[in-house]
Amino acid sequence: MLDKAPNGKVSDLLIALDKALSAGEVEPAVDLFQADCYWRDLVTFTWNIKTMEGKEQVRDMLKARLADTKPSNWKIADGEDASEADGITESWIQFETEVARGFGHMRLKGGRIWTLLTTMSELKGHEEPVGFDRPMGAKHGAERNRKTWKEEREAEAAELGYSRQPYCVIIGGGQGGIALGARLRQLNVPTIVIEKNERPGDSWRKRYKSLCLHDPVWYDHLPYLPFPRNWPVFSPKDKIGDWLEMYTKVMELNYWGSTECKKASYDEKSRDWSVVVQRDGKEIVLKPKQLVFATGMSAKANMPKFEGMDTFKGDQHHSSQHPGPDKYKNRKAVVIGSNNSAHDICAALWEAGADTTMVQRSTTHIVKSDSLMELGLASLYSEQAVQSGMTTAKADLIFASLPYKILHEFQIPVYNAIRERDADFYKRLEKAGFLLDYGDDDSGLFMKYLRRGSGYYIDVGASELIANGSIKLKSGVDVKKLTEHSVILSDGTELPADLVVYATGYGSMNGWAADLISKDVANKVGKVWGLGSNTTKDPGPWEGEQRNMWKPTQQEALWFHGGNLHQSRHYSQFLSLQLKARMEGIPTPVYGLQKVHHLG
Ligand SMILES: Cc1cc2nc3c(=O)[nH]c(=O)nc-3n(C[C@H](O)[C@H](O)[C@H](O)COP(=O)(O)OP(=O)(O)OC[C@H]3O[C@@H](n4cnc5c(N)ncnc54)[C@H](O)[C@@H]3O)c2cc1C
Repeated sequence: MLDKAPNGKVSDLLIALDKALSAGEVEPAVDLFQADCYWRDLVTFTWNIKTMEGKEQVRDMLKARLADTKPSNWKIADGEDASEADGITESWIQFETEVARGFGHMRLKGGRIWTLLTTMSELKGHEEPVGFDRPMGAKHGAERNRKTWKEEREAEAAELGYSRQPYCVIIGGGQGGIALGARLRQLNVPTIVIEKNERPGDSWRKRYKSLCLHDPVWYDHLPYLPFPRNWPVFSPKDKIGDWLEMYTKVMELNYWGSTECKKASYDEKSRDWSVVVQRDGKEIVLKPKQLVFATGMSAKANMPKFEGMDTFKGDQHHSSQHPGPDKYKNRKAVVIGSNNSAHDICAALWEAGADTTMVQRSTTHIVKSDSLMELGLASLYSEQAVQSGMTTAKADLIFASLPYKILHEFQIPVYNAIRERDADFYKRLEKAGFLLDYGDDDSGLFMKYLRRGSGYYIDVGASELIANGSIKLKSGVDVKKLTEHSVILSDGTELPADLVVYATGYGSMNGWAADLISKDVANKVGKVWGLGSNTTKDPGPWEGEQRNMWKPTQQEALWFHGGNLHQSRHYSQFLSLQLKARMEGIPTPVYGLQKVHHLG
């Protein structure tokens, strides 16, 4: 290729891509990709969340989907310029399909496509009412018996779920259910969010009292309504609870608090769900077409079973039930586990004057919060990033543009740098007996989160207490049994205890489907979360995307949504568009529906 400016290189390639795809010619399009290439599609071509890895998979997908998708108008995104560094040319791009407008990102190496991200921005004819199209609110003119906005909202609340069925029911009104509910509201998809707690935000409020978000504010914005500029970097849990409550109200969600879903079943013939809920002491059966589980990936408690638990005379509970340290001053506390919750709970117990011991069975990845913020997140999610013009939407898309298959390669150097920077800290932790790891392939925290959703602590102070012995540590041991007043470990140590906290993590979200639908459906859908990386707790084969999250599952009309605030924000866009398309009867043939390899 001629040595052209980045814009010229990207434009030439997009013209060639447009020409091939418009003509329905797969081979010339595939030729524009380099051998080692990745095309990540969020819903535009595949009606799925899918990464095509290598030319073969790109070819297969195009053969299956090009004729229906009818992509066109590929160009550098309006107002953007391509850039070039270290032999890679990159650019924001836009395009259309027959039914949607798309936005994406492209990286070229040697003039050919190395990574391509295609995402659906909006469905044609079903755009969100924003900007020039925003609602009037007031109705000018005169009309007899007109209803106010409040009366209309009240009428909707009285009718939806009773005389009129919602198209979609979301079980779980935490941040996941709320963010998705907000997007569906803007897309005019009648939706009810079912939440067994009384108020939006209660899932945060009910957690242990010392909890603050571990992720910083720039990473945590909800759709449509970012946090104000004076919002704290790490939201205290009750504050985020209040924000979610406010958000639910101003985004006009049909949110049924104090309502528990008891069971659900799908009628394959009528293609609707029967969702049995208990609201205000009354049973109501909802009949939506689509059912979303937003019941939390950190909510289905893994409660271990140890001999003697039934005879233990002190307090014992899973970390999700831990009320906080106040009752335990001068008492003996044993915390089983060594990840985030275990550390936070141990630190709060120590602060309250409890004699606290952590029991660590296997290695844990620790990363200091400030190191993670500065080396791991700053380029996309930080005040510096904002100052340099980075928006949340762009940061999310840049992150999404890095294919999972090679994401660890980008992460390893970050965690190597963190290990070097905090070498003394890690040395002191090891000296105290703490068993450290940095991920199976040294790729650190984020890969652990994506692969298994556990196995780490973002250090905000507890590690120092472990290093200096304030929090006692027993590592490399398991619990053998409990007696009336103690915990006996596998090495024979007896830890006297007034309190035992089981910070033993959470189970796969399809466990909720087993509880509320059936074991058969839970098995049909399989494990939720993880990439199939064949690393600890993320068995292969390679999936390429997170199992079952935000995309079609093996059970028609059943979806899973959730994750951290970033994921809830970003992926709710693509899940809401998939649901809207189905409601509007737009054909949504799913390409590459995942196979099930693990049951849970
Ligand atoms: C200790 C801890 C710290 C965390 N820190 C962070 C952090 O810093 N940043 C971050 O982004 N994430 C964090 N997470 C992870 C995750 O983001 C949170 O768990 C978050 O609450 C997930 O939101 P969600 O809406 O997916 O699930 P949840 O908040 O768990 O909400 C699920 C809701 O479903 C409801 N529900 C379940 N079953 C039913 C039923 N049958 N009927 C009606 N309602 C039902 C529950 O009551 C609950 O309110 C943390 C998690 C934990 C446990």
